[in-house]
Parts: sequence; structure tokens; C-alpha cells
Amino acid sequence: MIVGANATTVGANACGARKKEKKMRKKIIAANWKMNMNINEAKKLCKTLIPIVNTKNQIVVFCVPAIDITTVNSCIKGTDIKLGAENFYFEDKGAYTGEISADMLLSAGVEYVIIGHSERRQIFKENDKMINKKLLKALSSGLTPILCCGESLKQRENGETLDFIKKQIVAAFAKVEKEDVKKVVVAYEPIWAIGTGKTATSKQAEEVCAYIRKVIAELYDKKLAEEVSILYGGSVNGKNAKELFSKKNIDGALVGGASLKSEFADITKS
Ligand code: PEP
Repeated sequence: MIVGANATTVGANACGARKKEKKMRKKIIAANWKMNMNINEAKKLCKTLIPIVNTKNQIVVFCVPAIDITTVNSCIKGTDIKLGAENFYFEDKGAYTGEISADMLLSAGVEYVIIGHSERRQIFKENDKMINKKLLKALSSGLTPILCCGESLKQRENGETLDFIKKQIVAAFAKVEKEDVKKVVVAYEPIWAIGTGKTATSKQAEEVCAYIRKVIAELYDKKLAEEVSILYGGSVNGKNAKELFSKKNIDGALVGGASLKSEFADITKS
């Protein structure tokens, strides 16, 4: 049992260690443009955002529609902004009409790719097995995956959030080698908060992000889990970002709606 002054010292040390661990993790602010922005609009948005986003001490990624990748790649040349895609297919090549491979993305300058976004899970029926294949392929190809997970409103109301998140994380990380774990960026995105203007409270977001880290620690080990960057996504804006980023297990954000306006720069300054 820890008593008195010792307890205070041990507590302070643990808190200091957690702060240090957070400091060591990569901070990432990723934009998810979704199916917005034709090529001209993409150019215009880059012109607005590039001079005002803050890339100091953090990684800023523009995840853009496939059609905009080449244009955005030219726009960000010479800056520290990274290029990301919103989706890809796990096969190398072949008869997969409409799909894009990891190699194609890499050849166009893409470094990051969103995997398992709830819109892809719900609208395009991507299941855990497919998401796992995409995660493994991204890792073996050298793309940095931004793996999304998150519960529905019904699951939250039924108290099923943590069990559901665990299921998604365990399924996604199947066969992921230990040395690849810290290359995965996880984004906790409660479905009820995406595009709704209804942000999770920083307490709700922190609870689930901490739990994701715990699940990864159970699958691998604690030290490794401490190295994984975990983002929050769901109606992040210029006003709520700072409070979310102050939480010890939240290492940045995946931003939809607000990434299409100059407000994105405010988030990168939070
Ligand atoms: C998203 O779709 O990844 C997202 C977080 O959207 P929004 O910021 O608009 O809620």
C-alpha cells in the first residue's frame, strides 16, 4: 500500500511519465475532404489554407478525393503538409473497376490513407475483415493508415460503446506485427458526432481514446500502445479543438466539415 508523502510522489511521477509519453507521440491533424472539392475548388482551398495552417511540432495531412491527389500534391510541394487519400483497395492490381491500389497512391505522392471510416463501413458495406486486409496492405506498402473506429448513437445509449470499439480494434489489428503497431494512427470517431455539430465531450472522447490504448496494450504491450497516436474525430472545430487536445490520450484530430474552410487553420493552431 502507498501512504502519505510517498503516495503523492508516486502519483506525481506517474502523471509526469504520462505527460512525457504524450509529448513523445506524433501529433496529427488530418483533414478529410470527403466527396467535396472538384479540381478547381481543391486548388482554391489549398491557396486559402496553405499559408495559414500551422505545421510546427505536428503533422498536418490533407486527405483528399482521388481526383484531387495530383493537384493537391503540386500545391503542397515545398511545404510540410502531407498528402493523404480517403480510401484504397487491398489487392495489388487487376479487375477491380473503379478501385485504386496502394502502389497507385504511393506513385502519386500519397503518404497517409484513411481506412474504415464509418461512411465506408455504413454506405459501402466495408466490414471488419476488409478493413483488416486494408490495414495490412497499407502497412506492407509503406502507407500510414489512419484507422477509424466508432460507435453509433444507439450503441452509446445501450452502454455498448467500449465493447464495440474493442471488437473493431481487435479485428482491425489481426495479424499486424508488433513492429508495425506504432505506424498505425487510430481515429476514434463516434458516428453520432460526425457531421452533426454534436461533438463528444472531451471527457467522453478521452475515455474511449484511453480505452483504445488499453486494448492495444492488451494485444501487444503497454510501451507499444503508448507510442500509438490516437486522434479524435467528430465535429471538431476551431472552438472545441483546444479542450480536446488537452486530454492525455488525444493526439490530434481527424476533421471533416471544418477542413473545408479556413477554420481548419484555427484547429492546427489549437
Ligand atoms: C469525419 O468525417 O471524419 C469527420 C470527423 O467529420 P466532421 O468533422 O464533419 O464531423
